[in-house]
Amino acid sequence: MNPALYLGVVPAAWAAYTWGSHLLGSGVVWRAPRSERLAALTFDDGPDPRHTPRVLDILARAEVRATFFLIGRRADAQPSLARRIAEEGHDLGNHTYSHRSLWLCGPRETEREIARGHAAVAAAAGKAPRFFRAPWGLTNLAMFPALRRLGTPCVMWTVQPEGQRAASPELQIRRVARRMRPGAILDLHDADGVPGAGARLVEALPGLIAALADSGYTLAPLRDLL
Ligand SMILES: [Zn+2]
Repeated sequence: MNPALYLGVVPAAWAAYTWGSHLLGSGVVWRAPRSERLAALTFDDGPDPRHTPRVLDILARAEVRATFFLIGRRADAQPSLARRIAEEGHDLGNHTYSHRSLWLCGPRETEREIARGHAAVAAAAGKAPRFFRAPWGLTNLAMFPALRRLGTPCVMWTVQPEGQRAASPELQIRRVARRMRPGAILDLHDADGVPGAGARLVEALPGLIAALADSGYTLAPLRDLL
């Protein structure tokens, strides 16, 4: 192919495959129906041996059920934690096998990341994941058929108290208070992507749950919300 043409076609195809998937992503859930004062806590990137047990303790004390999007490779390494999450009544989600950006995965790699992550979480927890979340919320067109085959919808989030940049526990609680609305899905991290994220979450979580209860929210796992 003429190099000049090639340079035009390849970025265009890549943009359709990645950005285009977001435009066509009618199958992606960002919030639940707004009618009830229900909200969901979701935790990404675990299971983590330092932070996940403390998060589970806090949730048990508050009698809150949540949803954990596990990285398959970490579930392989921490099967007892994955099993504890399931046994304590939380929902399980698949967060790919190795947390690669789907924007950098071709169709075959996408299928492999999703299917292998699903199988790893199911084997470790003793229960198949019901939901999927793409790392960093980045999707591609190959993701949808792979998820349809597994019957796991892609669920993103409404409110992210800490994104790519560290946010203090106090700031996280303030952000949640400001942005909450019925049907909101909160995106939290019980492991470090951003350094220190897990420890900050453990510090913020009791106050966050209390603030939501004060505002009249009932926290539920995604299976009850969607
Ligand atoms: Zn993640």
